[in-house]
Amino acid sequence: MRKNIVAGNWKMNNDLSASKKLAKQVVKKVKKAKLKGTKVIIAPTFVNLESVAKATKKSKVSVAAQNMHFEESGAFTGEVSAKMLKSVGVKTVILGHSERREYFGETDELLAKKVDAALANKMKVIFCFGEVLADRKSNKHEKVVESQIKNALFHLEASAFQNIVLAYEPVWAIGTGETASPEQAQDMHAFIRKTLSDKYGNDVADEVSILYGGSVKPANAEEIFSKPDVDGGLIGGAALNADDFFAIVNAF
Ligand code: PEP
Repeated sequence: MRKNIVAGNWKMNNDLSASKKLAKQVVKKVKKAKLKGTKVIIAPTFVNLESVAKATKKSKVSVAAQNMHFEESGAFTGEVSAKMLKSVGVKTVILGHSERREYFGETDELLAKKVDAALANKMKVIFCFGEVLADRKSNKHEKVVESQIKNALFHLEASAFQNIVLAYEPVWAIGTGETASPEQAQDMHAFIRKTLSDKYGNDVADEVSILYGGSVKPANAEEIFSKPDVDGGLIGGAALNADDFFAIVNAF
């Protein structure tokens, strides 16, 4: 059965001491709670990954990187490889976040290479995609999402999807306070699952967790997560506060 997952993307926030503090707060809350199988992931910046991995060791909280390069090593100034992430205890990576696409020019083709590198290194991938407002207004959102998924993922074998979580993040809802309605999220998630099913069959499609991301808050998480094809959330702003993040985790 597919997992419920709540992942916090800290983006370029929190220095070392703030990262350790927040990680410890999240660990403490998760330890106290009786979560019904919900997986909790936090994603600090590269420089704080090792400390956060240590702070979460022996807990039920996992750590993810926010990005990585597809090469293993070499002359790629400023980049970090899968092997390097694994060497500091990180086994999950977020790829394809809309901020990486928009500000750093990441394309579906580049992301396909990153996905391959992560999987080749036995890492888990949280793969993000989503339409911009103009696509939604012109009713192209399904086409856009379908092509993002096909271009970056459909070269993979079905078995690869055991290590992939999808995160639908409408760009117009990220950090804007605008949230897709629970119905809009459900419609898109059902469409994504059908797209997977058409290519790989129902067994694969049913097992892949699909997260929603875009201004999820304690106040709206429960309703969004109650939708049958929404298996959790990728949380930005609200993940920076342990109480808010935990309230979202607890929304299941
Ligand atoms: C995100 O960055 O993935 C995100 C969903 O951000 P926010 O929750 O702040 O909209």
